[in-house]
Amino acid sequence: MFLPRKVRGHYLCYDLGTEFTSAQALKYKSFLMDEIKDSRLDMAFDLSSTERIDGTAVMFFKNIHEQLSKENRKVAFFGGTQDVLDQLKSVNTFQIYPTVTDFERDFHEINIELNKTFFRLSEGKGHFRTLKMICPLCSFDNVSGFIVDENYYKPRWRDDEIVPVFEPDEPDANAVDFSCYQVSVCPKCFYASTRLDWFTIVFPEGRFESHLTQENRAKLSNAVALRRSLAMNYSGTNEEAFFRIPREKGASYVSWLLNEFNLKHMSDQRTTDGFDVVVSNFMMCKFALKEISIDEHMYTALAWLYGIMDNKENYSTLRLAKAYVYLISVLLSQDKTGDARKFYREMEKSFKDIEDCKYLINRAQHLLVS
Ligand SMILES: [Zn+2]
Repeated sequence: MFLPRKVRGHYLCYDLGTEFTSAQALKYKSFLMDEIKDSRLDMAFDLSSTERIDGTAVMFFKNIHEQLSKENRKVAFFGGTQDVLDQLKSVNTFQIYPTVTDFERDFHEINIELNKTFFRLSEGKGHFRTLKMICPLCSFDNVSGFIVDENYYKPRWRDDEIVPVFEPDEPDANAVDFSCYQVSVCPKCFYASTRLDWFTIVFPEGRFESHLTQENRAKLSNAVALRRSLAMNYSGTNEEAFFRIPREKGASYVSWLLNEFNLKHMSDQRTTDGFDVVVSNFMMCKFALKEISIDEHMYTALAWLYGIMDNKENYSTLRLAKAYVYLISVLLSQDKTGDARKFYREMEKSFKDIEDCKYLINRAQHLLVS
């Protein structure tokens, strides 16, 4: 007896169907035990059509969790009615996400709750604050991190930007352009990332230890000479304050350049997070000091966008939908209206029923008519 399954990110996802009780636990036990042995991936259970589970099922999943945690693997659940989620929450063991997009956000981005905790613990009183961080590679202990209040700054599209920027609801003279500060940079070894949780963060209450994996640390440490020479091509980068506040346009540019470098050196070409590479290149266009670099970064972004379209299964629903919008933007800027329309039709077909994607479809529509 098999359960329908598919790979999403680093998870194997199983569709649990309308009901998962003692009968199904018995029916699928040997199948799932074999699956645990046959794969190295984490496991997730899709509850979006599940109306009922029972105590036996909860114990059954707890057993799976125990087996997997011996190998440092995870179990997650997503979707499901409140009643189903409450039963799973009662054992306090599982990672549970209300929707598939929340679940997928965790593949590539900082966990939303963790980010809110960082903001609460950060120094300062405004909606834009700093964090004191330690570099995960060279242990330099005075790296500046920046964070915005996500209840105040919301991602919005401006007509002159390809990617959304964080802006307050109301005009605010003190508002900062967060895209200048989104990448944290170690001024000693030039490790750079948009992921705050990959740095060790020092709070008055205690330390949050970096979540960067050993494998990634090793790869990024090997690239230090290359990274340093890349950074040294730009004037000012040897000064410790270069990447602090206020960041000049040039510093913002180099921060995104280093972010892109690290993304590419963390994994092989096949598994590189193409979406973040694309965003980094759009940001480099925004902060470029020379016209020629804009063309170069636009070209790189386009090549990686086509790469995403060829490897859709590696990307979460939301990132894929955003990639379509970016691709449509670039194609329109090159007067390739026919191609842009083709991708729009594809996008609309794939995402029209997903609530979280509606604003992206609207944005693409808006681009096509304006
Ligand atoms: Zn460092």
